[in-house]
Amino acid sequence: MEMTLITKCNMVNCAYNKGNCCRTLGITVGPHAECNTYTHASSRGGYADAKGGIGACLASDCKFNTQLECQAPKINVDSHDKHADCATFKKR
Ligand code: SF4
Repeated sequence: MEMTLITKCNMVNCAYNKGNCCRTLGITVGPHAECNTYTHASSRGGYADAKGGIGACLASDCKFNTQLECQAPKINVDSHDKHADCATFKKR
């Protein structure tokens, strides 16, 4: 099994974002497909060469979700109502 990778994240003010990419190894996605790892901090987080992935996803009503794990080939994270959301979410 392989971790689903985040192709792009537009939340440029997140401490883990560099160059529109997520730089922490694994985010957690919440029950409403929100990125629960988003954080606005004065210091930078993550690793410059890390490719962000999905550690766990609680959005059980997404068609890509199996046993609270993401099975999508890849995902994007985008701004929605001023917070970070999984833009690949598709309701079953
Ligand atoms: S695509 Fe679906 S299962 Fe994967 S992270 Fe987004 S909401 Fe969760």
